[in-house]
Amino acid sequence: MQNPFENALKQLDRAAALQTFNPDFLLRMRQPNREIQISIPVKMDNGELRIFTGYRVQHNNACGPYKGGIRYHAETNIDEVRALALWMAIKCSVVGIPMGGGKGGVTVDPKTLSVGELERLTRGWTKAMSDVIGSEKDVPAPDVNTTPREMDWIADEYQKATQDPKYKAVVTGKTIPAGGSLGRGTATGDGGYFVFEGLREKLNVSKDACTVVVQGFGNAGHQMAELFFQNGYKVVGLSDSKGGIYNPEGLDVRAVDEHKKNNGSVQNFPGAQNVTNAELLELECVVLVPAALENQFFADNASRVKAKAILEVANGPTTPEADEVFKSRGIPVVPDVLANAGGVTVSCFEWEQNLKDEVWTEEQVGEKLRSTMQAALDAVWNKKMALNCTVREAAFIVAMERIEKAMIA
Ligand code: NAD
Repeated sequence: MQNPFENALKQLDRAAALQTFNPDFLLRMRQPNREIQISIPVKMDNGELRIFTGYRVQHNNACGPYKGGIRYHAETNIDEVRALALWMAIKCSVVGIPMGGGKGGVTVDPKTLSVGELERLTRGWTKAMSDVIGSEKDVPAPDVNTTPREMDWIADEYQKATQDPKYKAVVTGKTIPAGGSLGRGTATGDGGYFVFEGLREKLNVSKDACTVVVQGFGNAGHQMAELFFQNGYKVVGLSDSKGGIYNPEGLDVRAVDEHKKNNGSVQNFPGAQNVTNAELLELECVVLVPAALENQFFADNASRVKAKAILEVANGPTTPEADEVFKSRGIPVVPDVLANAGGVTVSCFEWEQNLKDEVWTEEQVGEKLRSTMQAALDAVWNKKMALNCTVREAAFIVAMERIEKAMIA
């Protein structure tokens, strides 16, 4: 298993080798500002006391308060949280929102806990972190296995611990009655779609010729597939954890959704051919959208990918070795820090609404998201063309230039 923090540093180093940055700035970027590790005692339903380990890594706050989700996973560890915090600093800066990078987590398999135990765990994390989080300090959000329900518990517990009148803005991704933003639920897929449209224009591919394959049919992948379908694109491949399906004539995404609801998987969809998840990544298409898991492309399978471009909606699907292969083959990879930044962008809009006591319509949120994502892609693409580098290198450079400027200021 690759160390995700080492991978993140490799990406940083590759970008730093292409442009002159202040060496002190680079040194600062290689280390998080602060790492907090806590013990969270939780009284279980059976009366037993269990201690869970929780984390918050605050990478950089030059552009604004630290921002990043909280992950509940049995394998969550400090290296993973560290990497995710660094990527959040880059991600927020790429899309130009006034936030820095942070990430949190708890080492726990949430499926083994009751709702009551999860609530006590989340409130325990919040209480222990109440001095380090806050609307002007550090603003968490949902990540793997945490949802608006957990975010509402965080806002409530933080308010109890601090009496902060701005307590709603301490966390984003809340339910709408608790101060969540309209459009937040689909923001990652929506943002990915706006980047896809811009990419297609930059690659000069006509709409009719632009076939798409999506790996992962969850929150982000499903919304993207739905938008491709709604807008008349041919989705030729789709998959979930059980496997994939392929139809070169195009899949009816809504019918696949119904089929998955009834059968628990996209596989065995009438008229389509079943493929494995490994085969799915090597299908003939113009744009391939990994929207499931990290570490999907290695040097080996990267050499067999037939797509003309890759849009990383998942976090970290491409290993540094695969990146090299895609670079040598001239396949542009729009990196996660740009392609999936729609979620954090609307999180920022939620934070702004909470601070100003405003409620924006879904249309206002959608329009702001569209212009933010388009401007980010334009800035990154211009940098890529100017330096003749990869899209990932360009995204890191654009982000690092902004953070460096903010640190100097
Ligand atoms: P999700 O749990 O809703 O969906 C994941 C999907 O991937 C499911 O359909 C699952 O069946 C499928 N899957 C799991 N293992 C697979 C495999 N081996 N091959 C193919 N499919 C597989 O998760 P999500 O929220 O949609 O997140 C997906 C990715 O996008 C993650 O990397 C996540 O970090 C990233 N992301 C999500 C958001 C968001 O707002 N949801 C924001 C930023 C980044």
